[in-house]
Amino acid sequence: MGLAMVNQKLAILGEFLVKWGGTMLVSFVLMSTYYSCVHIIAENMYDNPTQIYWLTLIARVIILEIIVNLACFVYYARYNSVTYWHRKSCVADLRVYAEDNEAQPEVEYASAQPRVDRHLSWEPANEAGSKFCFTCNKEAPQRSHHCPLCKMCVLRKDHHCFITGACVGLGNQRYFMVFLFWCAIGLVIAMPHLFFYMNTEIAYWYPFGWCYYIGPVAVLRWILGYTPFSQACFSTLFSFAGASLITACGFFGMQVYYTTQGYTMYEYNNLTVRATFQGDGENMGERLRLVFGKNWALNFLVPLPWNLPVLTPAISDSLFRVRSKVL
Ligand SMILES: [Zn+2]
Ligand SMILES: [Zn+2]
Repeated sequence: MGLAMVNQKLAILGEFLVKWGGTMLVSFVLMSTYYSCVHIIAENMYDNPTQIYWLTLIARVIILEIIVNLACFVYYARYNSVTYWHRKSCVADLRVYAEDNEAQPEVEYASAQPRVDRHLSWEPANEAGSKFCFTCNKEAPQRSHHCPLCKMCVLRKDHHCFITGACVGLGNQRYFMVFLFWCAIGLVIAMPHLFFYMNTEIAYWYPFGWCYYIGPVAVLRWILGYTPFSQACFSTLFSFAGASLITACGFFGMQVYYTTQGYTMYEYNNLTVRATFQGDGENMGERLRLVFGKNWALNFLVPLPWNLPVLTPAISDSLFRVRSKVL
């Protein structure tokens, strides 16, 4: 096998890990947290069947919410594509026309892949405020950014999330937020059980017990032969769950804040952008309906992909503007 071949294989592996590595890690942490709380801690340490029943039921509902929203997030990432929105707006009239004539045109909604594969994506804005993406070979709205990992210009791009392996944009931001919401709820419920187990089963054996809550310390002790494997696993899980809790709460809070302010994370932290336009919508209701569609709060219970983002004329103007009005 030549070096070029090895290189190619490594590149494929790298691409796979960037896309799916984070998702696999999240799934592993969630599943082991669920398994530990429901099957190890509850079954061995609690003796009230009602408590075990409710803990199991709540844990299952939360895991289901997380999986469904993560799947929706990854699937609907294709609807972040600027091309999708352009095509949708072009095709909308055709569809109405066709419905009037009782014939449905075949419409492909698949996101466009760039034809030219270039490693650099450069998006200069000229003096008139328009922006050209050299990777997609087309003019793009000012509020879009090319993502070399998703291989498309993402409309209203928030950021590329490495944990879930896709961009957060107009098409899938709602699933990202609901996913974070349920991760945070699940971990808030799980952490006391993990803590109780660590306190009674593991850390109390040792002086300075707190340092056995830290994964790397326990793993090192296991390698040196001081600690059984199960304890190293539990400490590692406890550390991962704690870090995930902080991350989920922090990101959820930030997403809610930026959304209610009418900006993406990128835009809010870019003072030039913030000075250029006022933010989406007139009020909080319009901003939430832009991300979640109508009946926005219901998305936190069941995903409602058919409730499309509600774009007011002012929001569309800001979203799809390719040229500044000030010429
Ligand atoms: Zn592009
Ligand atoms: Zn991306």
